[in-house]
Amino acid sequence: MTPFDINHALRPALRSVRGYQAIDTPEEVASRYGIASDAIVKLDGNENPYGPSPLAQKALAGQYPVHRYPDPVQRRLRRALATYLDLPFECIVAGAGADEIIDLVFRIFVDSGDRVVIASPSFGMYAFGAQLAGAELIDIPRKNDWSLDVGALATACKDARVVFLPSPNNPTGGLLPPAAYEPLFTSGAIVGVDEAYIEFAGNHETGAPTLASKAITDEVPLIVLRTFSKWAGLAGLRVGYGIMSPGLASTFIHCKQPYGVNIAAEIAALASLEDAAILNERACIIAGERNRLAHELRSGGWLEPTPSEANFLLCRVTSGDGAALHAALAQRGIFVRIFDHERLRDYVRISIGTPQDSDRLLEALTQARSEIEATSNEGGLS
Ligand code: PMP
Repeated sequence: MTPFDINHALRPALRSVRGYQAIDTPEEVASRYGIASDAIVKLDGNENPYGPSPLAQKALAGQYPVHRYPDPVQRRLRRALATYLDLPFECIVAGAGADEIIDLVFRIFVDSGDRVVIASPSFGMYAFGAQLAGAELIDIPRKNDWSLDVGALATACKDARVVFLPSPNNPTGGLLPPAAYEPLFTSGAIVGVDEAYIEFAGNHETGAPTLASKAITDEVPLIVLRTFSKWAGLAGLRVGYGIMSPGLASTFIHCKQPYGVNIAAEIAALASLEDAAILNERACIIAGERNRLAHELRSGGWLEPTPSEANFLLCRVTSGDGAALHAALAQRGIFVRIFDHERLRDYVRISIGTPQDSDRLLEALTQARSEIEATSNEGGLS
């Protein structure tokens, strides 16, 4: 009997698929490096160091009907989001993380062979989704200062089904300027603006520079993505949402898996919205800590942080490479993110933790620098 050939059975688009480079759990990294999992400083996942809000913690510790299926139309959560955002209920769709909304964009709009535009370096989920869909990925690389090539982007979108642009961008941290998105609205492509980190952007006076209110009309093909993973500290529960025109939203509701947002995620998200004041205050603390850390790193002269509006800093290692720094920090129980991307070889992305986390990082960086520079000097002499 001929053995079953998995590769032959797969859809052609999946035969050479590269998996999404996900981060490991604290337990996994701790055991790999022989460190207690409560002793590590995890700065690799852009997670919220303060965890869920007090009301969300309380709600999760209480009683909720896990023996029932969640509401397939997400009425309570969409209503609460509508009140919180001051936008119509009909314009909001929740999902198991913003990732589910990204996945839905592919399922709804992208056929095999269709074009999907990104501007690298950017969040890896868009390229992953494009591979799964068998789409053609068109990359309009960012310039050396990580700003967008606005003209090339607008041209590429003319033949594309979808363009994904985060604001702030992960991993470079900058916001999407109006000059970049305005021309895209008439290109014919669906514009996915991913605001996963928007709550850390802007300041008290101006507020977060969101495109949410532009997304609710039928005039522009815009979908704004948001998440409870970062601002609300609920990454492990998987809850996010999209803001879009009522027509698009009702299509999303029809096409999504019925029970994507589970009951625990729903009650934690509802409680988080009630606790928005505390979560916003924490977002401000995190943004303040980002600015302090950026200043400290810059004065250290070894890491060069890119200006960021998010809860992370993309830093260029001025001598040595990202992988060497990652390894030296990991030995000391500190985990930062490196990327399998040619232009990011000399970079690490550092998520913002508590002030204590930053202090431990800064101390470990001093030791790591001496170690790495000593090794490269030895290399130079031999
Ligand atoms: N968008 C961006 C830009 C992200 O960086 C991430 C997570 N790292 C997500 C979306 C995914 O968010 P969620 O946890 O809600 O799926």
